[in-house]
This record gives sequence, C-alpha cells and structure tokens, in this order.
Amino acid sequence: MANASGACPSCGARIDFKLGDTPAVVCAHCRHFVVRSDRGFESLGRVADVVFSDVGLAPGDRGTFRERPFEVVGRIVLQHPAGGTWEEYFVRFEDGVPAWIAEAQGRWTVAQRAPVAPPAIAGLRVSQPVRLGDEEYVVVEVSSGTFLSAEGEVPFAVKPGAARAFADLSGPNGAWATIDYGEGGEPQVYAGVEVGLEDLAIRPRGGGHEGPQAVRVKEIQCPNCGASLPLLAPGQSEHVACRYCGAVSEVQTRKVLQQQGQARESLWLPLGRKGRAFEGAAWTVIGYMRRSTSIEGERFSWEEYLLYDASHGFRWLVIDEGVLRFTSNLGAADVDTGGLPRSVAVAGATYRMRNEGAAVVDFVLGEFYWKVQVGETVQAADYERGGQIVSCERSATEVTWSQSHVVTRAAVEAAFEVTGGPEPTGDATEPVGRRSAAAVLFAIGFLVLFLIIFATAASGSCGSGTAGGRGYGGSGGFGGK
Ligand SMILES: [Zn+2]
Ligand SMILES: [Zn+2]
Repeated sequence: MANASGACPSCGARIDFKLGDTPAVVCAHCRHFVVRSDRGFESLGRVADVVFSDVGLAPGDRGTFRERPFEVVGRIVLQHPAGGTWEEYFVRFEDGVPAWIAEAQGRWTVAQRAPVAPPAIAGLRVSQPVRLGDEEYVVVEVSSGTFLSAEGEVPFAVKPGAARAFADLSGPNGAWATIDYGEGGEPQVYAGVEVGLEDLAIRPRGGGHEGPQAVRVKEIQCPNCGASLPLLAPGQSEHVACRYCGAVSEVQTRKVLQQQGQARESLWLPLGRKGRAFEGAAWTVIGYMRRSTSIEGERFSWEEYLLYDASHGFRWLVIDEGVLRFTSNLGAADVDTGGLPRSVAVAGATYRMRNEGAAVVDFVLGEFYWKVQVGETVQAADYERGGQIVSCERSATEVTWSQSHVVTRAAVEAAFEVTGGPEPTGDATEPVGRRSAAAVLFAIGFLVLFLIIFATAASGSCGSGTAGGRGYGGSGGFGGK
C-alpha cells in the first residue's frame, strides 16, 4: 500500500495525499507530477506552467449535486489537437465515488465512473450509436487531448505531455458520457448528465479564488488596432473579431489571425445588448456572423447572432430571408436518423430534408466560443417540419445538431430594445422558405442525388465533412483512470 505522505522526490517538500487511492498529485512547491506506488514516490516530470481559468473550479471548492456533497480534489489542463486548451475538474463525492466535472460552451457536465464495457476506439466514428449499460448514446466527438498541467490529485499517472484519446457521447434527455482511452490499460467510462451551473451549488474555497459565479465583465485590447473590447463571455470566448477594425484574434494569445476588409458594420442587434426573452433567460448579444452557401452557382447568405447567458449557455438568432429563428443545441441522441437521407425525427415528429450543402463563414464580429475563421466551412443539412427546423453541422471529427423555431420580429425588438428589424424577403406565406422555388428544385435534385449516393451507405450521418465547425471543438471530455 502506497504511503499517504512523504517527501517530494524533486524538491523535498512534504506531500500529503488527501484521498486513499489516487495515484498522482502535483507538488504545490515545485509543480512536479508525483506518483506513488509500493516503491514510494516518483516524479514523472514537471507540469507545464499554465494559468488556470479564474472562472473555473479549483481544488478545495465544494458543491452539492442532487443532494450529494462533493469536493474538487484536482484539476487538469488539456490541449486539443487543433490548438486551444480546456480544463476538467476531478471531484470526489462524499460517498467516495470519483467523477469529472467539465464545462464547454456554458454547459456543465457531471460524469462519474461507470462499470460498463466501452467499445474499441478503432473504427469509432462521429454519429455512431453506442450502447453503454442501459443507455443508448451517439458519438459526438472522437479526439485526443494532450495532458499539459494539473493541480491537486488526479486519478491517472501519465507523463505530462502525453496524449490521451477520448470519445464524447450524448444520450437522451441530456445524458452525457465520456470514454477515456488513456494509454494502455483499460479504457474508463464516465457517465452522467448535462447540468446548469446552479445545479452544482458551488462554494468556492476562497483565498482569492471566487469560482465560476464570479464571472465579471472584463476587457481585452484588440491586438490589431488597440481598441478596448469588453469581453462579454469571459472564460468562454476563443476568438474575437474586433468591432472597430474587423481583425480576428485569439483571446488567449492575443494573436491576430485574420484581417477582414470591412468593419464598423452597424448591426441590428448591437454587440453587448441584453434582452430577456425566450426560455426566460437574460441573453447578451456577443457575436454576429454572415454565412452563405452556393446553390446551383447562386450564393445565398444569411445572418446569425450569437446569444449568451451564463446559466443557459449559447443560443443563436438566425435571420434568413427576413425570417427570424431562435436556435438551440439538440443532443445527437435525441435525433432519430433512421430516415436519412430523406428525413430525421425528433420526439416522434418527422422533419423532411430541406437542403444540404457547404456553409461558409463570410464575416464575423464579436466573440465566439470556438475558433471561428472567415472561410470556415462545414457540411450543413436542414430538415423541416412546419415552422421548425432541425439542422446538422458536421466536420471530420464532430457532429452537432440544433433545433430552431420561428420567432416574431416584434418579440425580438421588444426584448432587445431595437427597431427596424428585417422584413421577410421570401414568400411570406411560407415562414421558412429560404430558397423558395430554387430551394424546391434544389431539394428535389439533391434528394435524388442523395438517394443514389447513400442508397447503400450507412445512415446516421448528415453528410461528409471537412474541418472546422462550431461544435464541441476545443472542449471535449476527458476522464482519467
Ligand atoms: Zn516538489
Ligand atoms: Zn481592432
């Protein structure tokens, strides 16, 4: 049995393990990653110097989830293959059950160790259905994370800098699972659920650490023009497109990545404007983008406003031919893809294929929770039922589904205190008629093509993709072992 206390093999400082069975702890003095075994303590090397988010969790924070008290005992920082980092928090419930808490795009997940057999990672692909225990999940991301740094105790013992493969899965009604394929050894399944921050009842440890409730408006300086930009979703935004000069920069590194020829575009919903509407949340307008797709040589473009509320996460207000739609994420497991390519079903209702194609980002302003770039392209497909649309966006490694319903211009104008909203430009009798006659012809033509191409292909996909995407990029799940 390994000791609970001893001297750091690197600096000699005293090290105390708080938990009985965690294999590794970061020396608070020299930041070496110290593992314990029957042979004593050993350092696997120093963890990287990273600045942990001051709006995340930290060791020593406590909380209560569904009447079960827990304590945060460790946190880790991982790096996505596409760049960017994310944090995960290792917690121990009072009853001894280990779990990971993570946050991505304002959505929190709690997933505890589950004694079920995971599928092999080889051949595992996005959109694939996977059964874990009694629950039917859909794979939403297959990727890997490089273990950069940690604090406190963690349930794995690998060298800092090692990459670990993982898969994230979405289940019905907010169910969530992550499979850590680690290195060697048995993969570990952590299963749980998506929750709101308020469901975790976090009590920060204090001492200068105020935790996720302490989110406050901050500012960054545009690294291109020097203008002061309020950070509207601190801790969430990956890229910011300057409202004054249009430059697209990385929030973390303050590096200018792209210049956009135009800036100072006057937006119908100004960045930073707050409005209480839809789902009872106080939404802040944090981003704006124009995207387009090409249909039979003709370009069709539409606008999307990104809305954020700390407890609800992100939503979109899409303006397409003057029709406004409020859009939220949909769990992949809540979409029945058995009718592809012609249709999908959600909650027993069938949505028919409306159109499909490559959606390109043409212009952005404000903040985005993923690494948006002008030119970013995803394969997008829309399925329609009455005024409701279910959409799928797919890249090579991720698939995301969303659902939208038509909202009135009056409701948006009242909530955000604006006037002069868009007038419908399409056939007003058809609320979602983006492409009117051309769309119908396109849809028919595409459907035929689709039927031919996918007649023998696997369903459960909304088309094949390239890189990029507004999905879970840069976040993702990672369990330890
Ligand atoms: Zn040390
Ligand atoms: Zn600027």
